[in-house]
Amino acid sequence: MTIQLKIDNAGRAQNDPGLVPLVGLTRAQLRDALVEHAGVDAKKGKMRADQVWRWLYHFGVTDFDAMTNVSKDLRAAMKAAFTLDRPEIVERLISVDGTRKYLVRLSPGVECEMVFIPDVGRSGALCVSSQVGCTLNCTFCHTGTQPLVRNLTAAEIVAQIMIARDDLDEWPTSLEDRKLTNIVFMGMGEPLYNLDHVSDAIDIISDGEGIQIGRRRITVSTSGVVPKIKELGERTGTMLAISLHATNDPLRDVLVPLNKKYPLEVLLNEIKQYPGLNNSKRVTFEYVMLKGVNDSLAEARELVRLLRGIPAKINLIPFNPWPNSPYECSDWDTIEAFADVVNRAGYASPIRTPRGRDIFAACGQLRSESVKIRASERKRLEREQSEGEPSQA
Ligand code: SAH
Ligand code: SF4
Repeated sequence: MTIQLKIDNAGRAQNDPGLVPLVGLTRAQLRDALVEHAGVDAKKGKMRADQVWRWLYHFGVTDFDAMTNVSKDLRAAMKAAFTLDRPEIVERLISVDGTRKYLVRLSPGVECEMVFIPDVGRSGALCVSSQVGCTLNCTFCHTGTQPLVRNLTAAEIVAQIMIARDDLDEWPTSLEDRKLTNIVFMGMGEPLYNLDHVSDAIDIISDGEGIQIGRRRITVSTSGVVPKIKELGERTGTMLAISLHATNDPLRDVLVPLNKKYPLEVLLNEIKQYPGLNNSKRVTFEYVMLKGVNDSLAEARELVRLLRGIPAKINLIPFNPWPNSPYECSDWDTIEAFADVVNRAGYASPIRTPRGRDIFAACGQLRSESVKIRASERKRLEREQSEGEPSQA
């Protein structure tokens, strides 16, 4: 059963395109913006930026007048240049299991989805999108059927967290009894093809005087963009997840076509170099269970063999179907037998229970109806990304 709630700000006017969103600038960018557009004296730029920063990310204010320790003149100058409006929530669905899915309109015709999954352990994870659509075409993934619309900006990535915090009533930031404790970049898109913006967003989310979600509680999942993996670790210090899904190249070439460019051996060697890896900072390997495709016991044993020597966690994900998907989920007995082999090799509870299936919010089911960009623009992005260069679109 799905409950659809009425949303307070549904139908609210889109942000005034002339105003710059203040949420999503790094500290340095915020200081520069205040000096350039709000008349702040350069010498006082850092101090003012620190003040405003706290209002934005500790208190989550959406009104400049709430910034009570900021002078009236500066508030007026900020109002004329910037906006604190959040992107519009177009749809908000709550599953029977408490999972919440949001469809967010970032700009006219551009929408992304994000999902809040409560009670993962003693915590709650927000699954955020890094792109609208994806240039990669993993055959089991619904997002992969949608052409890339565009990369999200850092502001748009951070806005997803702000919206979830608004909805969960989690302002000001508190370190106790939080509902939203973890962020996973496992929504739409390939984060390593948008690393500059993902990295800026992570700097903002993890800042100790704002949202305060530590880097160890942020996981970035990649289908295996080898040239960017080490850079991800160096720039963000976050946890790494790899969408593995197969234990041999011929099958992975089909399921995750990027494997043709970066085959298993190359990928696994690169993962071993991930900065800071040890038994308390393990790589998560995601393995989607596809009936009759990758779910044999021989493959379970091969999985264990392949990961030997890498501090790893294994997540077996029951396949979540979508309309006309070409695969079926493995039978439960098969998943348990597979998990048994993995368990006996020392990996604890590897099956990830599907969440939010009734509202189509589970892994790989995300897909927005955003309008497509011009074919020429899409080709340019796809070309750049296939060359392993992140695009700034
Ligand atoms: N592009 C990145 C992050 C987004 S996908 C990546 O591929 O890692 C997030 C996770 O959901 C990945 O592990 C992906 O393989 C998995 N996934 C995609 N479609 C799925 C489906 N239909 N059922 C279960 N898991 C799926
Ligand atoms: Fe893109 Fe990840 Fe889906 Fe593959 S699994 S199509 S990389 S979002």
